[in-house]
Amino acid sequence: MRKRGVSPLLVLLCFATAAAASDTVKLSVDLRSAPQHILHATTRIPAVPGPMTLMYPKWLPGEHGPTGPIKDVAGIFVKANGKDIGWTRDPKDMFAFVVTVPAGATEIEASLDLLIPTNTEGFSSGASATAKLAVLSWNQVVLYPARAKGDAITYEASLTLPPGWNFGTSLAVKSAGPTVVVFEPVSLTTLVDSPVLAGEFLRTVVLDERPGRRVVLDMAADAKDDLAIPDELLDGYKRLVKEADALFGARHFGTYHFLLTLSDKVSHFGLEHHQSSDDRVRERSLVEADQKQMMLGLLPHEYVHSWNGKFRRPADLMPDDFAAPIDSSLLWVYEGLTQYLGWVLTARSGLRTIAENLDDLAISAAELDARGGRTWRPLEDTATAAQLLYETDDAWGAWRRRVDFYDEGTLIWLEADVTIRRLTKGTRSLDDFCKRFLGGGKGLPEVKIYGFSDVVADLNAVAPYDWGAFLTERIKRRDGGAPLGGIEGGGWRLTYDDTCSPLQKSSESVKEIVDVRYSIGLLLDKAGTVVDVIPDSNAWTSGVAPGMKLIAVNGRRYSKHVLRDAIHATKETPAAVKLLLENDDFFREVPVEVRGGERYPLLARKAEGDDVIGAILAPLAETPYNIDPKSKKR
Ligand SMILES: [Zn+2]
Repeated sequence: MRKRGVSPLLVLLCFATAAAASDTVKLSVDLRSAPQHILHATTRIPAVPGPMTLMYPKWLPGEHGPTGPIKDVAGIFVKANGKDIGWTRDPKDMFAFVVTVPAGATEIEASLDLLIPTNTEGFSSGASATAKLAVLSWNQVVLYPARAKGDAITYEASLTLPPGWNFGTSLAVKSAGPTVVVFEPVSLTTLVDSPVLAGEFLRTVVLDERPGRRVVLDMAADAKDDLAIPDELLDGYKRLVKEADALFGARHFGTYHFLLTLSDKVSHFGLEHHQSSDDRVRERSLVEADQKQMMLGLLPHEYVHSWNGKFRRPADLMPDDFAAPIDSSLLWVYEGLTQYLGWVLTARSGLRTIAENLDDLAISAAELDARGGRTWRPLEDTATAAQLLYETDDAWGAWRRRVDFYDEGTLIWLEADVTIRRLTKGTRSLDDFCKRFLGGGKGLPEVKIYGFSDVVADLNAVAPYDWGAFLTERIKRRDGGAPLGGIEGGGWRLTYDDTCSPLQKSSESVKEIVDVRYSIGLLLDKAGTVVDVIPDSNAWTSGVAPGMKLIAVNGRRYSKHVLRDAIHATKETPAAVKLLLENDDFFREVPVEVRGGERYPLLARKAEGDDVIGAILAPLAETPYNIDPKSKKR
């Protein structure tokens, strides 16, 4: 275990020393050809004569995998004293380039092009630029000397923007001309942690205006009208900032930037940074109801990461550089607790109603409860194998399992919250654990590593209990269904109804899927292709599998309405629904027994017990807003 906590004072001292030294690396990036899906970058690195190895970042913080887009690097030239000195790739490391620095040279100049894909799959290495905007992830255009520690090497970065484009970033600006911006020198770790969002249509709104504590929302879109954020959504994000302050009782950043990209032509995901987040959603997410509903949980999740994931980080997710593999087995804390707190803050800030948040929980609880794959793969292995599972799609998800540590983490941390409240008769909660585990600090970026025993110790300090056994049992078990104790102990139960929740309708509309997993066992895409089958469901045992295409239902050409009508007809009388399936070049009609009609997940109040989940989701900040104003209860 390597201790890498650095005090802000130490950061400042290192910064002053390094910035003054002549070994600062100069990186210049030209974004003017971003609309052409190619970036040009030049790095000037201090050097001494002799062999030298240049590295391209491989393991990316927050992506939890070796996702540096080395295959999309082209146009590599290395010069010294103005002459091309060539390079050779290390045959055993695709991310390493060996050069020989000639006599008399004091630096080398390495230039490269980044080829930006148009494929919207994946994370930051996916599509990141359109004709109107670009997200610059510095790790994609930077080289660094082998064995240099990310915190110990200083970079001064500059950026040339297309005419008329503006930008947002958490980096401090040293000087800004009409098109060229020079940023204050920072460590390589901070540079990689500070992406830039740039675009022709860029709008900035301030969520917290207090000097030294600003929280800013930078939005770039493919069209100006996409940026018309409604007042109630803006107010929700302002309340998110207040609710996070109330939850954690401390911040670990000076200024924070949400970098929100609105485009259908970029990859869609969120990536956390210490003082910003790279949040990419569909183009109409601010202005179209279904798209908006699907993005509401994203910014709360990424904001929580500034505390959980950046300030506090598992020791083995904290390598010295970008070349060392990680151990991601504690992602059920890093991502799982973040997912839970993001879900809590989404309701506390009024971004979603409590009813919507309960529907959200019902959808993920039902999905996890039907994960047949939990019989062979414990939750902990979904975290350990995250670098594999992030790369998989929905096919066979119920049997293979996916990155379940997010949503199953929500269930586990909800149960921990409910348990603390029960043990302490409502006087303490997971909020107290959050203040202890994620609060404190000096108010500026720093990293405090932790291990499993630290999590257990802080839980015990809030409410004495056998937390080690509680957590171990839930992350290692391979039997039963999803851990639903938090829902049950919170006064609710997972059940099924024949009506889709509005949230599921939005989900199906935006993702273009048909989800009838809890009746006939199938998840389909818009073309009727089977995406997933619930293990041991009647469809599974009848031989239906991902990749087969549903052509007809009970003799009529497939549409989602024809399928749902056929399932609905089994409500009173069980029946075999006949599925005509195309399997490669062959067709086969498969009868699948269905009983009980349509089934969609929802949470129902239990007949007895307090509504603990309702109490958890009530706002903490001084002014309550998402409860009935006539009610005295909070
Ligand atoms: Zn996350």
